[in-house]
Amino acid sequence: MEISREHWHVAFISWFALVPIGFLIMYRSFPVGDVNWLNLSFLFVGLVVTMVLPLRLPDVTVSLERWITFAVFLQYGVLAEWLFTQLAMIILLVGGKSTFPRAYRMIVNSVIFTMISMVSGAVFHLFGGEVGMTGFKEVVWFGLLYAVFYTFTNTLLLTFFFKMISHPYALFGKVAIWDYAATMIVFPCSVALYFLSGFFGSKAILLIGIPFVLIILIARGMVQSDHLGQRLSAAGKIGRDLAERLVFEEVIQTFLVTLKDVVPFEHGYILDWRRQDHLVLLMGSENGVLSKRATAFTLNPKWTADGGLNHEETRVYRTRKEVELFTNISFSQGVECVMIAPIRRDGKTEGFLILGSTKKNVFHQLDMKIVDILTGYFAISLVKARLYEQTIEKSERCGLTKLYNYRHLDAHLEQAVSRLRTGKISDLSVIILDIDHFKSINDMYGHQSGNDLLISLATILQTYLFPGATVARYGGEEFVFVLPDISEVEAMGLAEKLRREVASTAFRIVSDLSETREMLDVRMTISLGVATASKDIEDANALLRNADRALYMGGKRAGRNRVGVYGYEQMEMV
Ligand code: GH3
Ligand code: MG
Ligand code: MG
Repeated sequence: MEISREHWHVAFISWFALVPIGFLIMYRSFPVGDVNWLNLSFLFVGLVVTMVLPLRLPDVTVSLERWITFAVFLQYGVLAEWLFTQLAMIILLVGGKSTFPRAYRMIVNSVIFTMISMVSGAVFHLFGGEVGMTGFKEVVWFGLLYAVFYTFTNTLLLTFFFKMISHPYALFGKVAIWDYAATMIVFPCSVALYFLSGFFGSKAILLIGIPFVLIILIARGMVQSDHLGQRLSAAGKIGRDLAERLVFEEVIQTFLVTLKDVVPFEHGYILDWRRQDHLVLLMGSENGVLSKRATAFTLNPKWTADGGLNHEETRVYRTRKEVELFTNISFSQGVECVMIAPIRRDGKTEGFLILGSTKKNVFHQLDMKIVDILTGYFAISLVKARLYEQTIEKSERCGLTKLYNYRHLDAHLEQAVSRLRTGKISDLSVIILDIDHFKSINDMYGHQSGNDLLISLATILQTYLFPGATVARYGGEEFVFVLPDISEVEAMGLAEKLRREVASTAFRIVSDLSETREMLDVRMTISLGVATASKDIEDANALLRNADRALYMGGKRAGRNRVGVYGYEQMEMV
């Protein structure tokens, strides 16, 4: 997270205003008495061990290191407690991950912990608590007072801090509750440690520390297996989501979007390897934005056999150095850690899933296993979607001419009409055309030759297409053009040009009726009907009906080899 200049200033100023003076006050007023250095070192080790073993619950992280700091306070006073917390914090922050810049976090933590130490220490003494008390009741009573104020100040300062930097801290309630719970869990241990230390000295920490740490470890194990269960069920849900998608693109999108729920990455890419000699980027997701053009990732045009993409198994590249060794792909600065998983089906690599993170070393064994399972689901879902799309495509094409069929035309025209109504296109024309006396052509040359003629005609029709236009085989030897943004005059021109081209074409066929199967040049003509929709057109069918009527009246009835235009049929007939 980016920290603004002002916030840096506030942090620095508060630190200089508070921490040195705080230290002096504590040093002067509550000096540390007799120090048992061995005991203190043991306690410090205990503190660090507990600090590196936080319990990561689904949305709160609970740290139980207070069992030591409370005991240190009761035994040595506020200054020792303060030093302990500050030192432990520095050790932890040097190694730990954080969303904030490390130095900033250190300063803020130092300020917050100093304030907590001072406030809780002051309350303890104000009410009459003393360092090194021996009465059970006093220790419990004043210790509890201290612990509660310690926790209260902590929650208060954290809330204030997150408010100040406008960081979402929505789980405040939950965090606060866990804060108090943690205090209540550790408090009896701290008191026990305090008293036992009085009896047994430094060895006392073992009596409390061993069971304490063991219980934390068991709890962590439980949390982890719970977490694993959650991730597996999330992965299962992704599998089901994928299986439900029937559109190729949607499968890819769903995969990249939902994968984020179970594997931590900022940049994800799906590469296609079906061409075997070069990679194609199918889709990328960069910081949650899906795109076919990646910015943090490039495919290198020169392909080398092992440029870092392993075809057999999922691999993780943990450092920038390792990432820079790839030759076939490269990442922008900032990507520190990469996972590459082959997408395999029937033992063949069909593509790659590439995940990048700006954090170091984020991909673990479990992430790789989950990715392996999910790329399996993904590969199957892709195949299923591809088959489905092919089936749809087939069912919308005519087997003979490979043009769209009636089913497609119907839906397509419906869409075109609604685009006209909503103003997305300004005009919409259709041309319907029918071969003249096709029955006699069939009779003369045979049905097979008739089919060949239909194929040849379809080839001619396709040369009249332009972006947005569609042609479909409407019925036996009838075809329909759907022409968005084409006015009536333009459609008439197009129809006339088409009529002339067909009339002047010699269609070459092999007559399947003659014995010798000689090549023949056949002449044929078409009649056409043109209709242009007005904005208040009832529906797509009305437009087709109009064109059909123009074909019949202005084309066929007027003598064939003609263009009829809806609305002008009577004129044509004269
Ligand atoms: P016109 O349209 O000029 O009135 O006369 P026509 O002979 O073309 O009449 P009609 O439209 O009624 O006849 C269509 C003929 O087209 C009937 C059928 O034999 C033929 N036909 C329809 N589909 C096919 C096909 O897929 N292959 C072949 N070879 N012929 C077909
Ligand atoms: Mg017909
Ligand atoms: Mg006909």
